[in-house]
Amino acid sequence: MGGIFGVVSNQSCVQTLFYGTDYHSHLGTENGGMAVFGAKGFYNTIHGISQAQFKSRFVDDYKKMDGYFGIGAIDDESPQPLVFRSKFGVYAVVATGLITNKSELVGELLNEGVSFNEIAGGGINNAELVACLINRGDNIVEGIASMRGIIEGSICVLVMSEKGIYAARDKYGRFPLAVGKSKDFTKKSYVVATEASSFENLGYELMQFLGPGEILLLTADGVKQMKPEGQEKKICSFLWIYTGYPSSTYDGISVERTREMCGRYLAKRDNVQADFVSGVPDSGVGHAIGYAMESGIPYRRPLVKYTPGYGRSYTPPTQEIRDLVATMKLSAVREVINGNRMIICDDSIVRGTQLKNYTIKKLWDNGAKEIHVRPACPPLMFPCIYASSTRSTSELACRKAIRALEGKEIDNPADYLDTNSAKHAQMIDWIRKDLNVTSLKYQAIDDMIAAIGLPADQLCLHCWQGK
Ligand code: SF4
Repeated sequence: MGGIFGVVSNQSCVQTLFYGTDYHSHLGTENGGMAVFGAKGFYNTIHGISQAQFKSRFVDDYKKMDGYFGIGAIDDESPQPLVFRSKFGVYAVVATGLITNKSELVGELLNEGVSFNEIAGGGINNAELVACLINRGDNIVEGIASMRGIIEGSICVLVMSEKGIYAARDKYGRFPLAVGKSKDFTKKSYVVATEASSFENLGYELMQFLGPGEILLLTADGVKQMKPEGQEKKICSFLWIYTGYPSSTYDGISVERTREMCGRYLAKRDNVQADFVSGVPDSGVGHAIGYAMESGIPYRRPLVKYTPGYGRSYTPPTQEIRDLVATMKLSAVREVINGNRMIICDDSIVRGTQLKNYTIKKLWDNGAKEIHVRPACPPLMFPCIYASSTRSTSELACRKAIRALEGKEIDNPADYLDTNSAKHAQMIDWIRKDLNVTSLKYQAIDDMIAAIGLPADQLCLHCWQGK
């Protein structure tokens, strides 16, 4: 999905920018970058981070950088921030999300005589496309507003000019943006970020979340609203289930607390007898703790993650090494597993291959007596269409099950979406057998919504409902 970070200050902002951007490393593994504005003007630096973590790629750059304003991004789609000379003066931009009508917009701009310099993954860089659309406006704010009006998909943007940083949340607030204020009274400084959890350790306190479609201008003197928030919100539910960092809050709702509630709801509807409950590290842990709290079944750790050698920001270059890394990451604790019946909570089941080949297999190999899998969200039926996603429809575990049961691809899985239908039960049982587990019970969608605590009409539920 990608993450963005910005800082304005009356003092050097570079250290805050470096660490603040790094706090978004769980949101992307391909590209990282930072740009600053200061006495020497604009400066940007961009690196690929698929083979080395953000901090190690940028540690030399950041020591040479200087400025009062800065923006940064970690993103899988497009290398950024990019710097442009425009009719509004020079500015830098970061833009994360997905533009689904990209080729149509690029065609329109080419017809208008616009040319593109940056190429990302064989296509046009999202940040450059966004900048070209902003440049059509009478000023930066109107440009951002009109750009958002014609983009299909979802884009959050930071535009850094000589005035300050314009922060714009996507039209339906699908992805978050939060603003923080320095706790150090000797400096005037504000930050804006996808992940509000980056603020605390950098010495900032959370001030506010941007509303859907809202645009703010951050300067060292304060935060000014340039466009009010829109009426309609559809924030991504998957942020709380999987994508978000446990210490984060989105629109005031804690990720960890939501995961605990998901686990509690799973336990409330369950009656399986087990010796312990556990979560698949890391994102299954909060859900499993909630399950343990509700059920009274002890929490234990049959699998531990070997984090010193296998950090998040590393994409192994070949499938063979990816498979090897996947199995090396988790170590089994035989003394906990052997002879025991266990409930294993995971955030979700996407393809199911990771869970089957590297988690379940390790548990059986180490003497598990029974394995009961409890995903914290309902069956994933559709890939994300609002952020870059590694999932395709056909590879989802549910679609594989439907294909096997029907003997062909089907376009409309409505019968399988109905949780009371026989087809839905057959699909779940097919996945259970494929995973090779004793039982499989998914979260009910109403329970997931209740765990988040927002009204259903304020949530994006596309992954599960396709609408
Ligand atoms: Fe989130 Fe899924 Fe909606 Fe994408 S489609 S924004 S992952 S809920």
